[in-house]
Amino acid sequence: MSPVLTQEYAKTFPNLVSAHNIVPLEGPRLALFNQPLANQLGVKAADINVLREWCLGNPPTSGHAQKYVGHQFGVFNPDLGDGRGVLLGEIEDEQAQIWDLHLKGAGPTAYSRGGDGRAVLRSSLREYFASETLNHWGIATTRALALVSSQQGVQRERLEPGAMLTRVAKTHVRFGHFEYCYSQRLVTEQKQLWQHVMQRCWPQLTDAEPIEQFRAVVKATAEMIADWQAFGFIHGVMNTDNMSICGDTFDFGPYTVFDTFIPQQIFNHTDHRGRYSFLRQPSVGLWNLQRLSQALSLIFPVDALAPVLNEYEDFLQQRYLGRMRKRLGLMHGDDSVAFKRVGEWMGLMQRFEWDFQDSFIMLQDIIKGDRAMPDDDLFKEWYECYMADNDQQPQLGVMETTNPRVSLRNHHLAQVIAQAEQGEWTAAQSYLAALTGQSLSVDELSHWQQPPNSNEQVTSLSCSS
Ligand code: AMP
Ligand code: MG
Repeated sequence: MSPVLTQEYAKTFPNLVSAHNIVPLEGPRLALFNQPLANQLGVKAADINVLREWCLGNPPTSGHAQKYVGHQFGVFNPDLGDGRGVLLGEIEDEQAQIWDLHLKGAGPTAYSRGGDGRAVLRSSLREYFASETLNHWGIATTRALALVSSQQGVQRERLEPGAMLTRVAKTHVRFGHFEYCYSQRLVTEQKQLWQHVMQRCWPQLTDAEPIEQFRAVVKATAEMIADWQAFGFIHGVMNTDNMSICGDTFDFGPYTVFDTFIPQQIFNHTDHRGRYSFLRQPSVGLWNLQRLSQALSLIFPVDALAPVLNEYEDFLQQRYLGRMRKRLGLMHGDDSVAFKRVGEWMGLMQRFEWDFQDSFIMLQDIIKGDRAMPDDDLFKEWYECYMADNDQQPQLGVMETTNPRVSLRNHHLAQVIAQAEQGEWTAAQSYLAALTGQSLSVDELSHWQQPPNSNEQVTSLSCSS
């Protein structure tokens, strides 16, 4: 049987969508297609062409743009919604999990506010690579199923080639959906939407108390952000309309993964005050959850949910510690000692301006005796304590499976994008393979492992996508 694309969301929430006929790009070409993800969605080899057609912008029925609002840089904006994205529908996998398929860059919608409804190749490729890398690192994220390239020009700061990205997620419901219901006093819709999210993301909690349900959202959000902190990922635009309700990393824009660890650095060039800098991500996550709990006061008593917000920090810290224990091979011993050692390690990383991911590989090499220890008293002191914490035996195997050897780097992405814009996709295929742990030649791998030279460092990223 061919894959079936249902319209469950659009049928259940007619007041929260606007039907949208996709306007395909000129001369569309399926430049990247995520076959392992297609397999995971349960689409059989014989039906792959059906799925590919949908990704090219030719689904069997019209799609739907979703309405939402949000707080952008702390300010409420009522005029949001899918301005260029469209929910194609849902598909059910063999485990009966339902997945949203969403096409980004599908032409102007009812919520475009004069925008062109398009996405450029540069940002679509950056989203594809980030979501697949984060997924490989075990960080909750939306996925990328396909990237369609085109010769059609799209005007941004310069004229760029347009593209479309097919995004897959358990849900595309954002914090901003609930804020919309709250702002319009849509009680029935908000109740239904909450149930819908529970069924999709936490089916075991559909009959649980609201506080238990809200706890799942708080925990998922806290754990996602803890994972970002442990891997040096900066989202860059943590507006509430870019927060997935199920705690997936969502809406990749001017994101960065640190090369050199400079925690206070601001990469998003429109974020003048550094609201979304690396160090502020945990507190912004809580601020966003507060906006969500306020929106949910439409259907639940406020004081019923508020206590869970006090658990946020603990969820975040515990997850962060768990992750960092693995990154450092620090699997035993007291939590407070481990926390101290992790904090000191991050301090060393900052002091020496180490490359974020490579510093962990360096530590592995020092433990194995393959590399000399930095000639520095502070480092030696830390290393002695660290070895003592570990009974002289850090868990190298755990470190090796946790610490990526290839990182998501802006200068490599820039190289891949420049080639893709010329219609050359070999570098893209190779880098994607390196990022997602597929086997490659030694030369290729060593190329993608290179951190940037001083003249290749990216310090500022455009939000315009
Ligand atoms: P983003 O910065 O991608 O999170 O988008 C913020 C808001 O602007 C969302 O409501 C988007 O749908 C909308 N938007 C972004 N880019 C475009 C575009 N090129 N055309 C229409 N709407 C857009
Ligand atoms: Mg967005």
